[in-house]
Amino acid sequence: MKSKIYHESLITHHSSLIKYKQMEQELFIYNTLSRKKEKFQPINKGHVGMYVCGPTVYGDPHLGHARPAITFDMVFRYFRFLKNKVRYVRNITDVGHLENDADTGEDKVAKKARLEELEPMEVVQYYTLRYRYFMDKFNICPPSIEPTASGHIIEQIEMIKKILKNGFAYEKEGSVYFDVEKYNQKNQYGKLSGRVLDDLIHNTRELDGQSDKKNPMDFALWKKASAEHIMKWHSPWSEGYPGWHLECSTMSTKYLGEKFDIHGGGMDLMFPHHECEIAQSVAANKVESVKLWMHNNMITINGQKMGKSLGNFITLEELFSGKHQLLEQAYSPMTIKFFILQAHYRSPLDFSNSALQASEKGLQRLFKGIETLSKLTPSAESTFKVKTFIQQCYDAINDDFNTPILIAHLFDGIKLINSVNDGKEKLAQADIDALMEHYKSFVFEILGIQQPESSNAKQEVLADLVDMILNLRLEAKANKDFKTADNIREQLTKLGFTIKDKKDGFEWELKN
Ligand SMILES: [Zn+2]
Repeated sequence: MKSKIYHESLITHHSSLIKYKQMEQELFIYNTLSRKKEKFQPINKGHVGMYVCGPTVYGDPHLGHARPAITFDMVFRYFRFLKNKVRYVRNITDVGHLENDADTGEDKVAKKARLEELEPMEVVQYYTLRYRYFMDKFNICPPSIEPTASGHIIEQIEMIKKILKNGFAYEKEGSVYFDVEKYNQKNQYGKLSGRVLDDLIHNTRELDGQSDKKNPMDFALWKKASAEHIMKWHSPWSEGYPGWHLECSTMSTKYLGEKFDIHGGGMDLMFPHHECEIAQSVAANKVESVKLWMHNNMITINGQKMGKSLGNFITLEELFSGKHQLLEQAYSPMTIKFFILQAHYRSPLDFSNSALQASEKGLQRLFKGIETLSKLTPSAESTFKVKTFIQQCYDAINDDFNTPILIAHLFDGIKLINSVNDGKEKLAQADIDALMEHYKSFVFEILGIQQPESSNAKQEVLADLVDMILNLRLEAKANKDFKTADNIREQLTKLGFTIKDKKDGFEWELKN
C-alpha cells in the first residue's frame, strides 16, 4: 500500500489546531523571473497549475534526475496539503531533444535506438518505465498528467502555424526557425536568465556556415528530417520533427491554459530551454504563460559537476546498490531524498559519502524520535510552547520551501521529545497529540519521507493476531463448541499454520 494516493483523505483528518494554522499560512516563493520572493496567489483560488520539465528518456535515471523530481514533489505535496486542487503536469521528452541541447546533433532517443538496434519507441518505453520505477522508490507522487512530445505533434504543428502567422518565425528548406531578433524588438529575449541578446549574438560562434538560420540565436521549431531519420511526421513544411523547446510550451498551455501558476525545472534548463518557452508562448498567444518560474540548483559530486567523461556519473541503480567506484556503501532512496531535502532547493548541493552517511544517521534519529513521541507519558501541563514550535515549522516551509530550516526545527523538536522522555521537560496529552499530527504531516505527507516497513513490527502484530484467534478457539473448546474450534483450526491450517494442542494451551508455527 502506498500513502500517496490517500492524500485527499488524509487532509481531512487534521486537528482544529492544524486547520487553524493552515488557514493562516502565507506562502512566499522565489520567482526566477522577478528575482524576488513573491506571495503566492494562485490564478484561480484553490487551484494550482504546475508544469515541470521531465526527463528525456534515452538513458537510466541518475542523481541529476532526483533533485528536480524530489523538489517539485515536495512543492506538489505542500500545495495539496494546503487543500489546493493541483494539476501537476510533468512531460516525457521522447523526440526532438538533440545531442547538444540546441539544434544540431543526433536526436538523443534516436541515437540510443541506433546503438542498441532498437525501435526508438522501445527505448522510450524502457526508460520511461525505469524512470517511473525509480521515482516510485523515492515515494514521489506521479504527476496528474504525464504527456509525451510524440503524442502532441498535431498541437505542436498548430503552435508553429500561429507563431508563423504572427510573424515570429520563418521557413527555410523545410525547417521552421524562431526569429529571435524580431521577437526581441518588442519583447525581451533573455529576461529569465538575465542575458542580453546583443551579448549572446556576440559570444556565439557562427556554426559552420551550413545553418539555414538567419541569426545564430534563432532556434528550431520544426526540423526537416533526413532520409535515414526514423522519428518523423508530416507537416506543412516537411517530413520532420518538432524542436525540443516547443513541446513544453505546447503541452503546458494545452493542459494548464494560456496562463498558469508555476513552471519548474532545473537551473540548467533556464537557458536556452525556458527562455525559448517564454518566447514561443508570447509569439503564439501574445501572453506570457507562466506566472512564477521556479528553478532548483544542481548537484555536484565531491565538488565537481557530474559528467559521463569525468567518471563521476552515478545512476540511481548504482546509488541504491552501492556499486560504483565513488560509493563507500549502498544508500537507501529515503537517505538520498532526505539528503536532498536537507539543502534548500535553490542552493547548490555537493554529494559525498560523508554527507550521505550524516543524512542516513539523521533520518534514523528522526524516525526514532517519532517513535519515542508515540510512547510519551503525558503530564498535566506542558513546559514547552508547542503551538509556537509548530508555527516555526510552517514559517520555514512558507519561506520559499525552506526545507533545511524546517528539518532543523524537526530535530529541535526531537531533542524536546527526548527531554520529556528523560523527565526533564513535560508535555500535556493535547500537546503530544498536536506534535504527533504535526510530525506526521511534515515528515510523511509534505516531505514525502517513507518509514521503512518494519518487518519486526509487522510480525509482532501477526503473532498477536494468531494468539488471539487461538485463544478464541480455546474458549470455544471450553464451551464445548467443537464445531467452531475445528473450523478455526481448519482455516488456519489452510493458511499454512501448524497448530499443536498442549496441555496448558497451544503452540503454532507458520511455514514459509
Ligand atoms: Zn521543458
